[in-house]
Amino acid sequence: MHNSYRQAKFLLSCPSLKGCPNDSGYEVIFAGRSNAGKSSAINTLTEQKKLAKVSRTPGRTQHLVFFELENDRRLVDLPGYGYAKVPDSVKQDWHQNMSQYFDNRKCIKAAILVMDCRHPLKPFDQMMLEWCINSKVPVNILLTKSDKLKKGAASSARLSVMKAVKDSPSINVQLFSSLKKEGVPELCTYLDKIFEMSNEG
Ligand code: GDP
Repeated sequence: MHNSYRQAKFLLSCPSLKGCPNDSGYEVIFAGRSNAGKSSAINTLTEQKKLAKVSRTPGRTQHLVFFELENDRRLVDLPGYGYAKVPDSVKQDWHQNMSQYFDNRKCIKAAILVMDCRHPLKPFDQMMLEWCINSKVPVNILLTKSDKLKKGAASSARLSVMKAVKDSPSINVQLFSSLKKEGVPELCTYLDKIFEMSNEG
């Protein structure tokens, strides 16, 4: 199938809402706890080995990173946290920056919330979900590292997450593996719908 995300290019990175690109077009954000597999998922989606930096020093890079697609569409890599060693001051800054970004940015069309399929719905993930639900941003929960589980266990992990979020509208749950390149077409289809790619020639 055609993967239009291959053309993603680094646009800019900035520490807060201030340096973001103009609030126009369509943005899909990628969020997840550190080590969930978010950078790997972005690299797998875009078929680029080093577009998103894998295994950054936790808590060090608190930048929003924007990747440009065609026609004013962007993928945004949000800084993650989740390690105990991230200092409280960094977490506070993160909260402030993220709530500003969420509350003010109209071009956010969806969120890809990346979770390790073996450890889903941690407090960070619940907080992100709540944020998205309150801002009416649809979410695709990407249960990644699915290669770490047997097929049956992976699909029950997916079912139990689906059950946990069933009362919230606009939440999709899918399995993904960067190692095995599984779940890529499903993610592309989800993004195409959000970006309304199918409406264009
Ligand atoms: P991030 O902190 O969320 O950006 O996570 P990374 O993408 O840096 O991945 C964290 C670690 O998990 C790295 O050692 C990756 O190689 C590993 N990893 C990421 N995705 C997968 C996957 O789908 N399968 C397996 N087995 N390992 C993965």
